[in-house]
Amino acid sequence: MKSVISELSVLVTDDSLTQRQYAKALCQELGVQSLFDAANGVDALDVLGANSVDVVLIDLEMPIMDGVELIRSIAQKKLNSSVIILSAKDPILIASVGTMAEADGLHVLGTFQKPLLPDALECSLLRFIQDTKVAAEPKKSPDTEVTALELSQALANNELTLAFQPKLTVHGLLLRGVEALARWRHPTKGMISPVVFIELAERHGMIDALTHFLLEEAFKYKRTWQQYGLRFHLAFNLSPLSLADSDMVDWLCKMAEKYGIAPAEITFEVTENALLGELASAIRTLARLRLKGFHIAIDDYGTGFANAQQLSRVPATELKIDRSLVHRAAARPQQRTILASTIDLAKNLNLTTVAEGVETAEDFKILHDLGVDLVQGYYFSKPLFADDLLNWVKNDLSQLRRQQEQK
Ligand code: C2E
Ligand code: CA
Ligand code: CA
Repeated sequence: MKSVISELSVLVTDDSLTQRQYAKALCQELGVQSLFDAANGVDALDVLGANSVDVVLIDLEMPIMDGVELIRSIAQKKLNSSVIILSAKDPILIASVGTMAEADGLHVLGTFQKPLLPDALECSLLRFIQDTKVAAEPKKSPDTEVTALELSQALANNELTLAFQPKLTVHGLLLRGVEALARWRHPTKGMISPVVFIELAERHGMIDALTHFLLEEAFKYKRTWQQYGLRFHLAFNLSPLSLADSDMVDWLCKMAEKYGIAPAEITFEVTENALLGELASAIRTLARLRLKGFHIAIDDYGTGFANAQQLSRVPATELKIDRSLVHRAAARPQQRTILASTIDLAKNLNLTTVAEGVETAEDFKILHDLGVDLVQGYYFSKPLFADDLLNWVKNDLSQLRRQQEQK
């Protein structure tokens, strides 16, 4: 594993000789020893085919094959996954190419307007080192093959469970609540991600059964925590399909009563995209939930296409800003601008703002400076099983606060 910048190999792609030399000189100053260069996309693909390259710097405007085409080819040929995107063009264009590259599966270390500054380059290369370490940790694979039959057996066999991820106040790092996240402990395939099985359940008419099971589990945990005197909020994800179910609200109220839970301590999270389909029936369900005292969060905000007007029509109490807007905003000025205006919009609509996917101290600092209310992410804690959550509250949380005070 590469642990220092000097061990990285970098390819600089730019049609201007001066710019290539400049970028290579910056890399050399940072200690990079293995350096390649190419004057256009075609040459860059040749270099990538023949050498092992960690990071590719890509200028967008080049003759023969431009940067956008090069990014596409790199992704298609799975040649290399870490890129830094540069251009003299306007920041919006550069940022949107960055988004495109990520959608193609590339690892975007930074998107910058030229000239490339030494600090920006250093941060991006360090990020490569940091991220390849994180990626080496065992991960749940989203491509795990599972069938609808296995899922229905899993429900019957109690293989589904919940993990909980803390939501903390930016000021003082107080535990405001936890988000319940579904997990499937498969007897032979290991831990399966909800990304795989929620969609499967939605496609095979099992989402109601799954939601019913998980919600009762979540309420049981909340009741236990209350018995220990812990009264933090519980957030629970609702499928867009549940919003179309007219019996859902009554059932949720009944469950809250059964487990002795105050609706004001429950937040239902619904994704921004759930609001794009059957808006009328979604709003009806959400309005009824609000009337009963539950809170509503718009989840994954920034990934879909809901506009400010649609947002203002939803009876929400909270806006969860997606990690794609949050993570690495420090390295992407355009992203930072969108983040700032999203936070302003939420405040104008009287919504509590929650930033998800906070992974680094840099991410946290920006969110703090921009006035976000709550934060959630690996920087504070990964999702934890219930026992570990209690230990985290007892031990790790106060340590986090002390660390923060020292900063
Ligand atoms: P989500 O609601 O956006 O949940 C946050 C996801 O981000 C979780 O993934 C969490 O583990 C992950 N995460 C948290 N902090 C970080 C971070 O700092 N960096 C990164 N890279 N990721 C972070 P998970 O648990 O795999 O859940 C994926 C999605 O599955 C959820 O996204 C949610 O949409 C859905 N889901 C999970 N549980 C349920 C459920 O009970 N019902 C329904 N309908 N959907 C669920
Ligand atoms: Ca969520
Ligand atoms: Ca989310």
